Parts: sequence; C-alpha cells; structure tokens
Amino acid sequence: MFNSVLDTPVEFLKGVGPSRADVLKKDLGLFTYQDMLAHYPFRYIDRTKYFKINQINPDLQYIQIIGRVISKKVIGDKRAKRIIAVFKDETGIMELVWFQSLKWVDDNITVGTAYVAFGKPTIFNGTFSISHPEMELYQRKQVGRGNLTLQPVYNSTEKLKKFNLDSKGLQRLIAGLLDQIIPQVPENLPQYIIDKYQLPDKRLALLNIHFPKNVKDLSAAERRLKFEELFFIQLQLLHNKHLRQLKFKGVTFEKVGEKVNRFYNEFLPFELTNAQKRVVKEIRIDTQRGVQMNRLVQGDVGSGKTAVALMSMLLANDNGYQACMMAPTEILARQHYASITELVTEDLVRVAILTGNTKKKERTVLHEQLENGEIDILIGTHALIEDKVQFKNLGLVVIDEQHRFGVEQRAKLWRKNIIPPHILVMTATPIPRTLAMTLYGDLDVSVIDELPAGRKPIETKHLFEAQRLRMFGFMKQEIAKGRQVYIVYPLIKESEKLDLLHLEAGIEQLSYQFPRPDYQMSIVHGQMPNADKQFEMQQFIDGKSQIMVATTVIEVGVNVPNASVMVIENAERFGLSQLHQLRGRVGRGAEQSFCILMSGNKLSKEGKIRLETMVRTNNGFEISEIDLQLRGPGDITGTQQSGVLDLKLADLAKDQIILSEARNTVIALFEDDPQLTKPENAILKAYLQKLERGISFDKIS
Ligand code: ADP
Ligand code: MG
Repeated sequence: MFNSVLDTPVEFLKGVGPSRADVLKKDLGLFTYQDMLAHYPFRYIDRTKYFKINQINPDLQYIQIIGRVISKKVIGDKRAKRIIAVFKDETGIMELVWFQSLKWVDDNITVGTAYVAFGKPTIFNGTFSISHPEMELYQRKQVGRGNLTLQPVYNSTEKLKKFNLDSKGLQRLIAGLLDQIIPQVPENLPQYIIDKYQLPDKRLALLNIHFPKNVKDLSAAERRLKFEELFFIQLQLLHNKHLRQLKFKGVTFEKVGEKVNRFYNEFLPFELTNAQKRVVKEIRIDTQRGVQMNRLVQGDVGSGKTAVALMSMLLANDNGYQACMMAPTEILARQHYASITELVTEDLVRVAILTGNTKKKERTVLHEQLENGEIDILIGTHALIEDKVQFKNLGLVVIDEQHRFGVEQRAKLWRKNIIPPHILVMTATPIPRTLAMTLYGDLDVSVIDELPAGRKPIETKHLFEAQRLRMFGFMKQEIAKGRQVYIVYPLIKESEKLDLLHLEAGIEQLSYQFPRPDYQMSIVHGQMPNADKQFEMQQFIDGKSQIMVATTVIEVGVNVPNASVMVIENAERFGLSQLHQLRGRVGRGAEQSFCILMSGNKLSKEGKIRLETMVRTNNGFEISEIDLQLRGPGDITGTQQSGVLDLKLADLAKDQIILSEARNTVIALFEDDPQLTKPENAILKAYLQKLERGISFDKIS
C-alpha cells in the first residue's frame, strides 16, 4: 500500500490512533513513521551516573539516587492532598512528593524497599525534594527499551502532554516503532560510502540515536545521521546544478572586444588587484563555455566588486548582449549609476537607470530603448524584474547584495531572455564557508580576498561612556581635517520607543557639541518618509553635511570615500556581521579611517567577544566564522525561510568537517558517474527521481 514501511501514516502505529495522530501532525509535523524516527532526542540524561543525597544542589538538572523509603504518609486533603515519602541513603535524607496518581503510589511504593529515584531536585524549607520522581526497584533496572544508560529526551508540547505524549510518552512510541519496523528500514546510502567513512548502517544509527548504550555509539550514530542529512542536501544542490546546465544552454561570450579593452586601457583609473583579475578571469572562462553561469562573488566591503561587475557587463556588450545590474535600494542603484557613468563615456556604452521613481514618460522611452537594443547597460532596483521590462537580448544580470533577493526573483530574471542570461551575484556579507556551501551550494563561488593597495586598515577602538568627551574631541579633529563622520544608533523593533528616545537625546547632545553653522548634521532613520531620507543622504554624499546620524538604515554599499569615522553607539547591541557591515562604510578613501565602538560598562560574555573581535580584526571572513559560532546559521543570513537550513541534527557552525566530507563525496560521485547509472548508485538515483516528480522549474532554480 505504501512505497515503503517508512511512509506509513502515524495513526497506524500501536498506541497512536486518530486523535493522537492529529496532534502529532499539528504540533510536531510528524506524519509518517519516517517522521517519527527522525524526531531525534534533543538531549540525553545520563542514567549511569548516581548522586548521593549530600551532593544535591539546586542547580542540578535530572538526577538519580539510590536509597530506601523509610516512611510514607498522606497529608492535606482535597486538592492539596499529597503523599510525601522520606528517602534515605548513607549520606542523608530527602523527600519524594506526589500530588497525583496517589493510589498507585500507595500500592506500589513500599516502606523499607530500596529504589532508584529519578527526577529534578528542588529545595523547599531547607530540604531537597523531587516531585513525581520516576521510581524503579533498585535491583531490576528496566526502563523503556532495554537497559537505559542514556535516556532520550524529546521535544513535546503542552497539547501533546494532555494526550500522554510527553517526552516519556514519545519515548515509548518510538521504542515500539523501532521494535516493530527496524528490520524493514531500508539503507539509503550506497555501501561504498558507508565503508569509506566507516559509518554505522541506517538501522544501527536509528537505534543508537534514540537509545544509545554509551556515548561512543551515540556519537557514531550522530555522525552518520548528520552526514546523511548534509549529503542529501548536497546531492540535490549539485544535481540541480547539473540539470540546469543540461537544460539551459548559456549565451556564449566568445571574445573580449573593444569595450572591455578600451575600458581597461583608457578608462579604468586604477590597476585591478590580483583578486579582481582572478575573478574577472573566472567569469570570462565561465561565460565562454556555452553553459549558463550562476556565480556568487564574495568580497569584503571595499574590495572593488563594482569594477568586476562593470568589466563583466562590458564583456556582455562586446559580444552583442545587453547587461543589467540590480541593487536592493534606490540609493544604491543611483550610486552605482553615478560611479559607473563616471567611469565610462557615452560613446563606449549607453547606460541607463530604472527605479520605482522613474517617471512614467521616461519609463516608456526606456522600455522602447531596451527593446530596440539602444541601451547596453541598465542599472536599477527590483523595478527591473517587472514583466513590462523587456530586453532585446539580455546576456548578463548582476545582482548586488544577494541576500535581499529571493529565489523567485532570480528565476524571474532568467526568463528575460530565451536563453537565460548569465547571473552574477555580488555580496559584501562574507559568508562562512559551510554556510555558502549549503545555501549557495549550487552556485560557483568566486572570492575577492584582497583589498586595493594603499588602503589603510581601519583602526577600531572600543570606548566606554566615560570616554565620550574624548570621542567628541576626536570627531572635531577629523572634521577639521575635512573628513565626515557617521554616528549610528541601534533601532530595534522590540525596544523601538526607548531607542528613539536615545536617538533624540543623542541628537540633542550632538547639536550642542557640534552647533550650526560651523557644523551641518544629516539625520536619517527608518521612520522618516523615503524622500526625506534620500534628501538627507544626498546632503552627506555631496559633502554638504559633516555628520550623518543614522539608525541602521545606512544602506549597504553606500560609498562616501571622504567619510573616515564611524561611531557606533551601544555597539554591544549589534550583531557581529552588522558591526562589520557598518564599519565597512568607512575606509573607502586614501585617508586613515576609524571605527569607534561605544558601549555601556556592563557587557554580556557574547557582547564582549563581539567587541573584542571587531577591535582585533578587519577580516570579514574571520568575523563571519566567529559570528556563526556565536549565533548559529539562521540569524546570520536572514534566510531561515530558505529551508536549506532546516537541519535536524547537523550544525553548520560545528560540523564543518562532516559537511566537507559530504560535499566532496557528492562532487566525486557526479564526476565519476554523472548520470548515476552505476548499480551502486541506484538508490541515489531513485531518491532524486522521487524528489523530482512534480518539481517545477521555479523550485529548482
Ligand atoms: P565593494 O566591493 O564594496 O562594492 P566598490 O566596488 O564600491 O567596493 O569599491 C570601493 C572603492 O574602491 C571604490 O571607490 C573603487 O573605485 C575603489 N577601487 C576598486 N578597485 C580598486 C583597485 N583595484 N584599486 C584602487 N581602488 C579601487
Ligand atoms: Mg558594492
């Protein structure tokens, strides 16, 4: 009836039935036997370790104690009725308390008998007690599935508890399920891979993740299941990449022509760094192959991604194709437009800009010019992807700051040409390797890991409130040299009102310290109308104001080379990658730049690590790794919804080695057997075919 025993719906399991099945589905998303087996414990209680009564302290979690019940009495009545037993070992006495199941306790717990009592200790009136302890006769130590050493603890919910499916209830179900179906659970990894990495087989891994006999078996099971989890993600990602390459031919940029050459020799005001050259070359090779390129370019702030993007767009133009570049915001799009039109002349390429604010009249003209091929490079916001915007022959799309664009938007762009254009995604948010491999595992990745020569590393200092006047003095000194200063305040939804008050107070103090007309200050925060924000930003960009006070709305990628000081207020409240992004707003010109992290005196351990890291290093990749360790993957990318990160066991911060093993295995697999026709890979082929049924173009893009 079902494809495999694992697809059996949970209601068929002994002890479940329709109403429990309903809650299991709703509360935990457990629909099938497979789902049940993959509801792994989130921790284990060591049942091999025994405590003595005089070792108990209120900080202990679950513990077990061997002792004898020396008295037992019922006290209180009605709802306060309870049984208290005094429990004794050779080091002292404690109490065991029951408020429910009194009859059972009365019948089964007998004075004079030795038990193992298990539970969480609390202290009351100077005496330790355990409420509703689990009791076992001392000699016969039997719980759940055989002799438990590490007892699994499962996630449950209030509702499930009402159906007697607390952690222990789930333990019982899963134990029963394993007993019933373990011999029928199919292996899902090829044997040669299991052998190569010396993994336990699927059955053993499942048994041991739920009911390990010891820590060693448990870690082997964990390793196997993590490997499997990461392996199948990589298998899908790399399989999609292959499919895409088979399905979609790419436009071919055969030659480097006049535009690239003239730009490089006559217009480019600087020598490309070696890293920039390398990435341009990677793109050049990629776009020659007749296969659609999907490349992610990672480069720290200021590493010069724009020049790489422009060279690539000119390459498209040289081969008779149009190119476009999409930025996440209007301001950024304008800035790209400004810096690109500054670098090229109209007789080299025709560049245009399209944003949500483009007037209807202009827009109509623009649409026409795009369709006629009179525009070579179009720069803009997501207004570019509207269906009305049609190109004559779009060959390359550059997406700046990828993390704000979803997969669907990417797919929309692909359809702008019969043969989908090459895609170049730029990000200044360095992504830890493991995360990149998982999130963007189907993309090729280029890294610009070098800053242009002569760029002085930003000096970062951490100051406390008491040193505020010194900070103001420093600002004055830099402004006197003709520099500009950013001051950033946190503005967080949960504490918005208070944050706005701080911002106001800050502005007041600043207006006092930096009075007009000697100083001009621009203020930008999230609650201002867009037009005002843009006006204020523009004042600063044009050098008409020296101080820019902002909440985090300062745009990613905004480029004001003359700004050389970044002050971050309440820096301890920002995440590491945010701090790094903010710091990246300075250090863009030839002058020495500074970042000042202001904080209160009280710092959490994590807050301290963040600030210390910022002071110690400017390396975005190093920072992103530390950020990943501190926060875990979900928060970092803001892409929790991507589903790729919906990992049950594997942890991208900790399991880098397993991830590399899994990815390398898949890469080798496709190199050796691209169509998965070898018999030993048949199960993998079957897995992918099962997935593909019903999967549309959008989902694989
Ligand atoms: P990002 O990678 O953050 O987008 P940009 O492309 O905005 O960086 O470049 C930052 C600044 O560095 C710009 O002013 C740009 O003109 C300059 N720049 C880029 N590449 C070089 C280079 N090879 N040598 C000198 N300056 C460069
Ligand atoms: Mg940029």
